[in-house]
Amino acid sequence: EVKLEESLQKTRSGILGRLGAIFQENEITEALWEELEETLIMGDVGVATTMELVERTRDRVEREGIKSTRDAYLVLKQEMVRLLESDEPLHIDEPRILTVVLVVGVNGSGKTTTIGKMAHYYKQRGRKVVLGAADTFRAAAIDQLKIWAERAGVDVIAHEPGADPGAVVYDAIRASQESRKADLLIVDTAGRLQTKFNLMKELEKIRGVASKLVHRAPHEVLLVLDASTGQNAISQAKSFKESAGVTGIVLTKLDGTSKGGAVLSIKRELGVPVRFVGTGEKLEDFALFDPVAFVEGLLG
Ligand code: GDP
Repeated sequence: EVKLEESLQKTRSGILGRLGAIFQENEITEALWEELEETLIMGDVGVATTMELVERTRDRVEREGIKSTRDAYLVLKQEMVRLLESDEPLHIDEPRILTVVLVVGVNGSGKTTTIGKMAHYYKQRGRKVVLGAADTFRAAAIDQLKIWAERAGVDVIAHEPGADPGAVVYDAIRASQESRKADLLIVDTAGRLQTKFNLMKELEKIRGVASKLVHRAPHEVLLVLDASTGQNAISQAKSFKESAGVTGIVLTKLDGTSKGGAVLSIKRELGVPVRFVGTGEKLEDFALFDPVAFVEGLLG
């Protein structure tokens, strides 16, 4: 099992890992703020987020009369945590007869792997989980989901390749409510971006079916993003987010990327928080996203 802090080792050994040294080597001067800004931008944090972060840190340091760079560094960490935190609770954990989670994302982002890991994660925590195979476009996607379901030891409701995704969701909800007596249904959806218009219509239809059968469903729509693509993941996510009603992000492949800095700009850019992270290829390499642990891991 790869822990969040370990998985950030590559980012830490890169540009952002220098932040600590920058604060150690400087006094609190204009030059410090400039070097901080440059380092954050080079560390894939994104220009707008960098500006905001430096400004907030600097304002607080000045307002609070902070004189030591050690304390200024702590303010930077706190402001980073603030960028990542969310007031909105994760709706998966609320008491409810059946919680429905849609998982969306582009093929290759790690969507199927994530669903398998999430099934395992919640099963370990006493939930009765069922998977819905609504990515009916690729036969391989259904097969892959079945493999992950078996690994996690949960049931999967699937139709033939090419079947109507709305019908799969209908059956998956019915099965969850009746024969399987599940309290958490995780639905895999198609992820082909080439046919964006159709994809969005498909997601809309799935949402419609879910909301008719289960009060206020879907309760979460999680977008899976490949962290190793850094800022590109964010621009891709913007186009998805608007039409899919995304409520949270799952970041995959955080292990082995040097672009972890991009994570700091996700909530600011997309308006939704990171909820989970994938830190490896195995079933257990998955964790709830913890802003404090993330910042500690990022900066060391
Ligand atoms: P999908 O097409 O979006 O469903 O993607 P898959 O779930 O099939 O994953 C694509 C590839 O990414 C596979 O080789 C996975 O093993 C790999 N992968 C998924 N999540 C992670 C992760 O958190 N870390 C690493 N290192 N690899 C991952």
